[in-house]
Order: sequence, then C-alpha cells, then structure tokens
Amino acid sequence: MTELNELDDLYQEIILDHYRNPRNQQVVEAPDMQAHALNPFCGDEVDLQARLEDGRICEVCFKGRGCSISQASASIMTELLKGKTPEEALELYSAFRRLMFGEDISEEELDGMGELGALAGVRKFPVRIKCALLGWNSLDDAIGEYAKANE
Ligand code: ZN
Repeated sequence: MTELNELDDLYQEIILDHYRNPRNQQVVEAPDMQAHALNPFCGDEVDLQARLEDGRICEVCFKGRGCSISQASASIMTELLKGKTPEEALELYSAFRRLMFGEDISEEELDGMGELGALAGVRKFPVRIKCALLGWNSLDDAIGEYAKANE
C-alpha cells in the first residue's frame, strides 16, 4: 500500500506488527457488548466483543479482515480497552478522532493513546481515516447498544 510506505519507519513497523500478529483474537465467552463494523470503501470489517466486570472492560476480542491500517488500529484498540470503563473508552475514542482529524488533543490524551500515535500519519490520507476509525466505530456501536439495553 503506497500510503503506508510514506509513514515513518517506526510507525510502519508498529502497524505491520499489529496487522501480522493481531492481538486479542480469542473468543470472549458470554460477551456483554458486541458490534460489527464495515468500511465499504476498502472492504474492511471488524467484529468486536467485550465482557465487563464491575463496570470495567475485562475481556475484549476482535475478528477482522481488511487493510493493514484498519486491522492494526483495531488490534491496538483492544489492548488499550482492558481495565477501562465504557465512558473512559469513549473518551479515548474521542481523543483518537481528534488526532485523526488534526484537532486539539492534550499531552495527557496523547500519552494515553500509546501505540495509536503510530496512526497519526494516516490523517494525511483522508480516505484512510475511515480505515483507522473502523474498529472504534464498532466500539461506539457496542457501547451504545449496551447502554440502551441496560437503561
Ligand atoms: Zn481500509
């Protein structure tokens, strides 16, 4: 993919590592939250499942296919979600969206993003932003459904 070649070497490495060895592939038994997201633009798909314990995400997995950016972003996301409340997860999503769209984020938010920072260069390629946000769209849906079901 040409876009990927234009990113810094270190960032490319992080993205390709997650793409080739996606984290958190084990099925979550009895998930509390799940959602499927599709990016018709390049055929990327992400299925996300998570289980909560004491209001925090304790187990999370995803299955997906598609381009390296969509799959790496989903893989990094699953690593960041463990231990977070749904509210904290949505705050992280908000910060990541702002990073992708070149809007303001605080130093603290950037720190909390860890390897997601590797995807910052993707914002130079607007059509790829959808790929980077795909897993997060599934998270947003999963949390929305969960909140509705538990009102
Ligand atoms: Zn894609």
